[in-house]
Amino acid sequence: MSDVVHIGLGSNLGDRVAAIFEALERLDDCDGVSVVRVSTLLESEPVDVVDQPCFVNAAASVRTVLRPEAFLAMLLQVEEAMGRDRGGVVPRGPRSIDLDILLWGDERVETADLTVPHPRLHERAFVLVPLVEIAETLTHPVLNESMANLLTQEIACNGPVDLRCRMLARGSLQDESGFHGPRMEEDA
Ligand code: ADP
Ligand code: MG
Repeated sequence: MSDVVHIGLGSNLGDRVAAIFEALERLDDCDGVSVVRVSTLLESEPVDVVDQPCFVNAAASVRTVLRPEAFLAMLLQVEEAMGRDRGGVVPRGPRSIDLDILLWGDERVETADLTVPHPRLHERAFVLVPLVEIAETLTHPVLNESMANLLTQEIACNGPVDLRCRMLARGSLQDESGFHGPRMEEDA
C-alpha cells in the first residue's frame, strides 16, 4: 500500500531551477517513490534569514511505500548527494536544495527528527501557493483548514503574495515532457 505525501522543494544557490528538477528526478528514481504531480515553480523572497538570495520553490505530490522516517532519510540523502552542506551553516540560510515533508496524507508524525504536517507550512506563502495549486482542497490535519483557506489567512497576516512570490513558469511537469524537460529558463 502506498501513501500520498506532499513535499516542498527550495533552492537559493547555484542554478536553482536545475536543482529543483534534479531533486525531482532523483526522488522519482528512488525505489518505492514516484513523483505524481509538480507545481509551477515560483521565486520567493527569503524569510527568517532575509540577507540571502531569493529562493526558487515548488511543491510536489509523491506516492511512496516508505514510512515517514525512511522517506525523510531518503530526502536527506538526496540533499547530500546534491551538495547540501549542513556543516556550520546558518540555520535557514542559503542552501543548494531543501526538501521538506509538508503533509503525509492526514497523518500526524511527531518524533525527535520529524514533525508532519510541517510546523511552518501555514505561515509561508512560498509553501502554500504551490500547495494550493496541486492540492487546493486538501485539509491540514491539525488546523482543520483547507490549503486555500490557510493561504487566505496567510495573506491576511502578511499582505499580498505577489510582493513576496512570483511564478517562474506555467504548468506542471505531468505532461508528455516528463521530468526531463524542457528545462525552464531562469530569468532572475
Ligand atoms: P529547514 O528545512 O527547517 O530550514 P533543515 O532542512 O536544515 O531545516 O532540516 C533540519 C531537520 O529538520 C532535518 O534534519 C529533519 O530532521 C528535521 N525535520 C523535522 N520535521 C521535518 C519535515 N517535516 N520535513 C523535513 N525535515 C524535518
Ligand atoms: Mg529542510
